[in-house]
Amino acid sequence: MICRMRAAVCAIVAFLCVPLPAQSPAPLVDSQAFLEQNVRSTPLKVDAAKIKALVARMTLKEKIGQMTQLELGMIADGAGDAVAINPVKLHKAIADYGVGAILNVKDQALPQAKWREIVTTIQSEAAQTRLGIPVVYGLDSIHGANYVRGAELFPQPLAMAATWNPELMRQASHMAAAEQRATGVPWNFSPVLDAGRQPLWPRLWETFGEDTYLVTVMGVAAVRGYQGSDPSAADRVGATLKHYVGYSAPVTGHDRTPAFIPDVELREHYLPPFAAAVRAGAVSVMVNSGEVNGIPGHVNAHLLKDVLRGELGFDGVVDSDWADIKKLVDTHHTSPTEKEATREAVMAGIDMSMVPSDYSFPDLLLQLAQSGAVPPARIDEAVTRILTMKARLGLFDDPLRGTRASVESGSPDARRLSLSAARESIVLLKNTGSLLPLASAARVLVTGPSADSLLSLNNGWSWTWQGDRKDLYPADRPTVRRALEAQLPGRVTFVPGAEFTKEIDIAAARSAAGQADVVVLCLGEPAYAETPGNIDDLELPDAQIRLAREVAAAGKPVVLVLLEGRPRLIRKIADSVQALLLGLNPGIEGGQAIADVLTGQVNPSGRLPITYPRDPDVLVPYDHKAFDEQEKSFRPQFEFGSGLSYTTFEYADLRASPADGLLAAATDVSVGVKNTGGKPGAEVVQLYLSRKFASVTPPVKRLKRFIKVPLLAGESRTITFHLTRDDLTFIGRDGKPTAEPGSYAVMVGPLRQEITRR
Ligand code: BGC
Repeated sequence: MICRMRAAVCAIVAFLCVPLPAQSPAPLVDSQAFLEQNVRSTPLKVDAAKIKALVARMTLKEKIGQMTQLELGMIADGAGDAVAINPVKLHKAIADYGVGAILNVKDQALPQAKWREIVTTIQSEAAQTRLGIPVVYGLDSIHGANYVRGAELFPQPLAMAATWNPELMRQASHMAAAEQRATGVPWNFSPVLDAGRQPLWPRLWETFGEDTYLVTVMGVAAVRGYQGSDPSAADRVGATLKHYVGYSAPVTGHDRTPAFIPDVELREHYLPPFAAAVRAGAVSVMVNSGEVNGIPGHVNAHLLKDVLRGELGFDGVVDSDWADIKKLVDTHHTSPTEKEATREAVMAGIDMSMVPSDYSFPDLLLQLAQSGAVPPARIDEAVTRILTMKARLGLFDDPLRGTRASVESGSPDARRLSLSAARESIVLLKNTGSLLPLASAARVLVTGPSADSLLSLNNGWSWTWQGDRKDLYPADRPTVRRALEAQLPGRVTFVPGAEFTKEIDIAAARSAAGQADVVVLCLGEPAYAETPGNIDDLELPDAQIRLAREVAAAGKPVVLVLLEGRPRLIRKIADSVQALLLGLNPGIEGGQAIADVLTGQVNPSGRLPITYPRDPDVLVPYDHKAFDEQEKSFRPQFEFGSGLSYTTFEYADLRASPADGLLAAATDVSVGVKNTGGKPGAEVVQLYLSRKFASVTPPVKRLKRFIKVPLLAGESRTITFHLTRDDLTFIGRDGKPTAEPGSYAVMVGPLRQEITRR
C-alpha cells in the first residue's frame, strides 16, 4: 500500500518538477474531469444487517454513550508529552458510560509511538466492554498529520488552493491520511469546505478560498485523498466536512459571530462544496458553531434534515463542534437550560456531541430519552449512523488498523511532495522591470517580522492548536532568511526591523537597505487559529507599514514577501515595492520554496484563490454583482485568479461551439495557450462564464473550469473544455437551480466569445 503510494507520489513530483518533452505532452486532466473521476455515487458498503442486530442488543445507556465524544483530558492526566492515560478515568468513560468517541491532544502533538500506546490502551478497554464496540478517535489533521510530531506540515488549505492543482491536494491528503492512520487514529476533522468569502475571518487560511467551484474541486480532492475508495484501508482515514454550513461568513469577521445568508446565496455559494463532497463519500459532517439568519447551526433542523439528509442525501454521522450544545445556552441564548439545548440539538439532527469535557450530554440525554422527550427511534438512528461509520473505517475488523505498518512520520517522499506543493502555491503578484529572479551577484538585505519565522509559514494547527510553539518546530527546516542565506552565501544581511506589531530597529534596517542592492522585505502575520485570531482591522499593523516605508526610502528596489493567512491590506506600501510574492502559509517547506522562487530556481505558478482587497470597506469577492462596480468601486489590489510567471503566456483561437444552440446543448470550448517567453513555466487556464441578463441579478462572472498547463519555452497546447447545461444554471427566484435562454460570454484569459442559448 505504502509502496503504491510512493510510486504515485514520485510520478506526480516528476510531473511537476521535470520539464516535459516537447514532442509528447502528458495528458492533462481539467478540473471537471478531475471532479467527475473523484466523486463517487455508490455509497460505501457495510453490513447493515449486522449493525442493526448490534443496535438491537444495546441498552439505552450504551447507545447514548456512543453518541458522546470526549476530549483526551477526560481519560488522561498531564499534558504535552507527559500525557498519560488514567485507568480510572478511562474505565469511567468507556466501561461505565460506553463513550463512543475521543478527540484532540493535550496541548501538543505526540510522537507516533505515543499515539499508538494511547489508542491501544483505549481500544483494549473498549474490547472488554459487554459488546466490545471499538472507540473512534478523531484529530484535526488540517495540513498534514499536524498532531503527530515529526509529520510533514503541508501547505495550509488556502495555499493548496493557490496551486490550482487538485491532484497535488489529493496526493497531499493521502500522505496525511497515511501518517495519521499509522498512529491508530482513523478519523480526520478535515476538510474545511466553508467558502472563504469574508477576508477578516481568522479561519480564512483553513479554506480553499472564495470561489465555490475551486472549493468544490479541492474539497473533493481532499476527501478522496483521505478516504480513497475505501476508508478502512491502513493508509486512509475518514473525512469530516466542516463546518456545515455558512460558518465562514460572519458579518463582523469575528469567529463564530452571526452570519446572515439569504437562501439564494447559501445555495449558490455555500452548499455546493458540501453536496459534491457528500457524493465523494465523506463519512461525517461537523456542524457550524455559529448562527445563520438567527438560527444556531446546531438547532437548524431545516439545514440538518431537509437539506443535508433530504437534498444532499448524506447518510453519515453529524458531529457537533466543540461544546456547541452548551453554547446554545451561554452564547446563542436559544435554550434556557442545557437539558433543553440537548433535546433541541439531538432532535434537529446532531448524532454525536463533542461535549467534550464533562458527562452532561449523556446524563441529560438519558433523562430526555427516559421521559420520552427524545424518542427511541431518534437515538437508534444516530447510533446506527455512528456504528456504520465505525464499520466504514474498518474498526470492527481491526480497531488498531494502521498501527502495525512501518510508516515514517515526515518521510523523504512526504517532504518532496510538500515542497512541490509549497513551490506551486507561491503567487507572484508584481514584478516591475523583472526585478525577480534576483540578480546572481546581488547583495540582499532580508528584513521584517516574517523573514525568520516558521510560524508565519505554517500558522495554526501546527503541533499545537495555535501553532505558536517555536520549540516544537524541527530545527532543520529553513525560514525564508535561512533558505536565502544558504542559496546566496555571503550575500545576505539580516536585520529584523520590526516584530508584527512592534518596531525593533527600523533605523538599522533602513541603513542596511542603503548598503544592499535589493531588499527582501518579509511582512505578514504570526500564527493564530479560530477566535484568538480575530482582528478589527485588515490593514497591516503600523510597525510593519513604517518598516516598509523606511526601507523603501533608502532607494533600493524592494521585494515584498507576504506570509499571511488572510489578505492584510497593503495599499499604503504597494506602490513603493517593485516586486511582490505571496505565501498563504505554504507550510514547513515554505521557506525553501520562497527562496527557490526568489532566486529563480522555480518559476512561480500559483494564482490567487481569493480577491486581494485594496480598501477596507470594499471586501467584495470577484463574482459580485454588476451593481458592485458602480462608480468603479471594485478595484481590488489583485484580482482572484491572478498571478505572474517568469515567462509569458499568450492565448489564441478561443472557440465555443455551437455558438447558437438550445439551452440543453453542450458547449465545447477550445483555446490555444502558448509559452511566449524564454523559460519553462505553468499557466492556469481559467474559464469564466458571464451573463448580462438573468431574472436574478447575475454575477459579473463565475469560474467554471480550470486546468494547470506546464509549457516549455515556445511550446503551445490546445485546451478543450466541455460545458453542459449545469454550467448555465443559477439559483432562481424560486430557490431552485434554473437556466434561462439568452446570451452568455465565455471568457478565457483576455479572450471572450459570445454564445446564445435558446
Ligand atoms: C473547531 C473545529 C475542530 C474542533 C476539534 C473546534 O474548535 O471549530 O474545526 O474540528 O475544534 O478540534
